[in-house]
Amino acid sequence: MTDERVLRGIGVSPGIAIGPAQILEWDLPEIQQRRVAPELAEAEVQRLRRAVGDVQALLEDLRVRTERRAGPEEAKIFDAQIMMLGDEEFLGEVERLIRENQLTAEHAFEFKSLEVRMRWRQSSNSMLRQRTADLSGIALRVLRKLVGHPVGEVLHSPDGRPAVIFTRQLTPGLTVQFEREQVAGFASEEGTRIAHAAILARSLGIPCVMGLVGGIERIQEARTVILDGARGTVLLDPTAVEIAAARDVESRRQALEQELEATVGQPAVTVDGTAVTLRGNLDLPEDLESALHHGAEGVGLLRTEFLILGRTELPTEDEQARFFQRVAQRCQGRAVVVRSYDLGGDKFPVPFRPAREANPFLGWRAIRVCLDHPEIFRPQIRAVLRARRDGDVRLMLPLVTEIEEVERTRELVSQCADQLRREGVPAAQGVPLGVNIETPAAVLLADEIVERCDFVSVGTNDLTQYTLAVDRGNARLAGRFTPFHPSVVRMLKRVLDAATDAGREHSVCGEMASDPFATFLLIGLGYRILSVAPPALPMVRWFVRQVDLNVARAAADEVLQASRSRDIIAVVQEAVAQHVDLDLLAVDRLPGLPGEATLKAQF
Ligand code: PEP
Ligand code: MG
Repeated sequence: MTDERVLRGIGVSPGIAIGPAQILEWDLPEIQQRRVAPELAEAEVQRLRRAVGDVQALLEDLRVRTERRAGPEEAKIFDAQIMMLGDEEFLGEVERLIRENQLTAEHAFEFKSLEVRMRWRQSSNSMLRQRTADLSGIALRVLRKLVGHPVGEVLHSPDGRPAVIFTRQLTPGLTVQFEREQVAGFASEEGTRIAHAAILARSLGIPCVMGLVGGIERIQEARTVILDGARGTVLLDPTAVEIAAARDVESRRQALEQELEATVGQPAVTVDGTAVTLRGNLDLPEDLESALHHGAEGVGLLRTEFLILGRTELPTEDEQARFFQRVAQRCQGRAVVVRSYDLGGDKFPVPFRPAREANPFLGWRAIRVCLDHPEIFRPQIRAVLRARRDGDVRLMLPLVTEIEEVERTRELVSQCADQLRREGVPAAQGVPLGVNIETPAAVLLADEIVERCDFVSVGTNDLTQYTLAVDRGNARLAGRFTPFHPSVVRMLKRVLDAATDAGREHSVCGEMASDPFATFLLIGLGYRILSVAPPALPMVRWFVRQVDLNVARAAADEVLQASRSRDIIAVVQEAVAQHVDLDLLAVDRLPGLPGEATLKAQF
């Protein structure tokens, strides 16, 4: 496709979406700019209050529906929206505009919400930037109510077909908020494969392309588009022939997926009989069933920060314990690696109001927040200790850069265990403590870290970000963000050697492990435990079953000598081609498998 109608971005969630384009940001109703007679101002304020009340009721309803669809934790996303809408300071300013400037309720509300949105969008606080999409969603509903449009159908396309939603920035809150039947796919100008919204889109199985820099200018509302979430492309105004071809690709892909599903009950062993353990990464509670359905052998990464995403307060110890217990019971004795809150960076949910930071990714985040706030950390540790009675629940620490962070956590764990015993609460007396190796500091200290912890798991997303000094969420730099960089590959080897020498369990849980090409390299390097995004499990398992360990080892040896990402990718691609007929499988169209387009985008 060299066509001018093709927009190229990054495929972050596979699948083909065909439908009318809907630009979220611009879907505000047209507001007439007329004045209200002073004696009618109070009635206008009442009209505003009624509209706000109706939208609050609608959000409550969405909350209930989300609870049914995705679970109680996701439903709490709406608490934050309901709270935002009930902000008296904001509403007071809107009312002042009505009373003092004689604006209509819709004009005043639009004016104020656009003002706040601009302020948030330009803010250096990533949490506020993330919340702008929520704000837009609320404003959209209130304004539609005020001008008499149906508020509950904000996202329905004019002809009733599910829309392909275009937005500048897709946030985790926004992703979870949409009903699947309203959305065929997502496209955004910002973001990359590793952005948390992308991870969520994959979890929800909604095709998504990010990093369409400048793309919105080229899209016209309601025109049909074909979005290919594997290739990372959006085709504008497709012909009937192109639509038929896309449907054909989609059905072939689905046929292949069925074939992949058939591998679920089969062990992940290479052709020469080497077993690889495939665990699942859990972002949302609903991912648990998806992971088990796809044959996950336990949970290699349970991201706890999504338990508080969009909530107004932290989950209690009991809530966390219940959730960890449920996961442990469902995993029937297999490992469940609970990672302590990885707050900060691009994950600052509402209960946190951090001071403004110039560099949030280098700031007060993850284990630093938890150790500075034992009142946040303790309930989580206690919940893990309680859940450990139900299975092999473990605790893993994100963003470790100092040995002391492991030691201080150990102390906290033992204090919590003592407390629980004194209180007579049934709980384990200790928990295997692991380190998420995701900073160059942790790699260089790996041989000392493994002496002080029970297991390590490499988080290649952050490790790549911090090693290459490339923001994982910056679409402009997506071409530079690659775990196939020689420095990252050598670090993976270094961690593996340190853990092997110390006899510690070692795994990879970054998105790299969900990519079969990369899986091939990891197996060649010597990793035998991988934690994978649930939808990618069938493909990774199928792929492992095609691998000849000797070929993978030889490729890894060659890769370790290479000094360029380009050469590493070429070696891996050539070796993979010995196992898999890339043409037959239309490789660049397969979920999670980097095709030519993706490989090119890595430079
Ligand atoms: C990683 O950084 O690779 C990782 C697994 O953690 P997260 O993506 O949640 O930062
Ligand atoms: Mg990380």
